[in-house]
Amino acid sequence: MATTAELWERFERANREIATWGWLQALAGWDQQTGMPPGAAGDRQEQEAALTRLLHERTTDPALGELLVALEGRDDPTELQRVAIEQATWGWRRSVAVDAGLAERLARVRSETMTAWLGARQTGDHGPWLAAMEGQLALVRERASAIAAATGHDGPLYDVLLEDYDRGVRSADLTALFDRLVPGLRGILDAVEPSPEPEAWAESADAQRALCEELSRAVGFDFSIGRLDRSEHPFTTRCGLRDVRITTRFLPDDPLGAVFATLHEAGHGMYEQGMAPSLAGAGLMHAPSTGLHESQSRFWENAIGRSPAFVRWLRGPLSRHLAAVPDAEALWTRVNRVARTPIRVEADQVTYNLHIALRFQLEQALISGELAVADLPAAWDDAMERTLGLRPADAATGVLQDIHWSFQLFGYFPSYTLGNVWAASFLLHLETELPVDELVGAGDFAPILGWFREHVHQRGATVRVDRLLKDAIGERDHVADLLTVLGRS
Ligand SMILES: [Zn+2]
Repeated sequence: MATTAELWERFERANREIATWGWLQALAGWDQQTGMPPGAAGDRQEQEAALTRLLHERTTDPALGELLVALEGRDDPTELQRVAIEQATWGWRRSVAVDAGLAERLARVRSETMTAWLGARQTGDHGPWLAAMEGQLALVRERASAIAAATGHDGPLYDVLLEDYDRGVRSADLTALFDRLVPGLRGILDAVEPSPEPEAWAESADAQRALCEELSRAVGFDFSIGRLDRSEHPFTTRCGLRDVRITTRFLPDDPLGAVFATLHEAGHGMYEQGMAPSLAGAGLMHAPSTGLHESQSRFWENAIGRSPAFVRWLRGPLSRHLAAVPDAEALWTRVNRVARTPIRVEADQVTYNLHIALRFQLEQALISGELAVADLPAAWDDAMERTLGLRPADAATGVLQDIHWSFQLFGYFPSYTLGNVWAASFLLHLETELPVDELVGAGDFAPILGWFREHVHQRGATVRVDRLLKDAIGERDHVADLLTVLGRS
């Protein structure tokens, strides 16, 4: 009979191989969005499909399942091994619950819905998209039911989907969270004087690129194991044990768009760079939850990036790279302008979570069947009016604005709000341990990053998110924390 050490070695080898293929897939995806010649799109699609097939085979390999059963039966693994085996088994059960036939139908309907979504955004006619979404939702429900049956999940189907992103989170917890957060945010929003749209601020892409490089380096993104490039939609991806890539975008008339996108992605990137590489073999070199990952980006983008001390400090880098930097007061107003807008990704800190609250309600109703797909566009517009007091001018700035539902990402949106509230809690806790304002004002971000390295980043997924938060910042009221931070600016 194999010893536990031998079984563990096989488990580590399998994890390393799966990670390696995944990183190559990420590299191909990064290239597609940053520098691939348009003519290579067909090649890339084939490469992508081949890697997806291979990864599916490896992650659902029956031999891996047997190995996990054998490891689960041992009584001598270390604590870290025990955590790794439990998590891998949990993930394994969810993966194999979806048989190959269903997986293929899901992939096909996703591709159809994505095509219909892109078409609807161009033509403004959402009819074909709604038809595709019907099929998409039916299969998403089928997948959730299969996972629920295989894993004994007895909550609403939507809760099964939430766990694709944040294990342990339940819709009832999120409802309770939004029930307190939404009135608080509306109170802040109602008290804000409407301010005029800021004037265009034209800066060259080259100047913005140099600025973003300086900013990401200043906060602590490590270029010896990372890169910063340009893409249409900013993102962060890991392409190896020591290879983390972030991207940003340059708007011709608003360099602050690039500044905050860069801070956001640098936050994600520094989290990835701070994870202990020794965890890769155990399959634990990742965040325990999407919401926690998002807390790291929102922390640098909002909690630090929109604070008075940072905005004061920011004028230095801006002046070094840009042609026309506003005075301190005008810059502050631009950075912290609050306005009711129909688009989530353009929303400010106060209205952002109202956009999420709306999506949380609608996607729950779609999954439960309470809301028919045909009624979604009208339900969207009504919810927007109730929540933000405005009606979108068209579907492109309304129900069609996000890629998530077309890409089968149901249950993802709440992670953004979890990230926002946790980022605020991190800030308020850090202020009790470090002179945050002083450090930020001096551009000395290393002690702040160092704290995250120790309490969050290097732990990877060795603990669940609730435990990690408790260890790092104790028991806190996260909703109250976000409202406190927002009330200060
Ligand atoms: Zn993010």
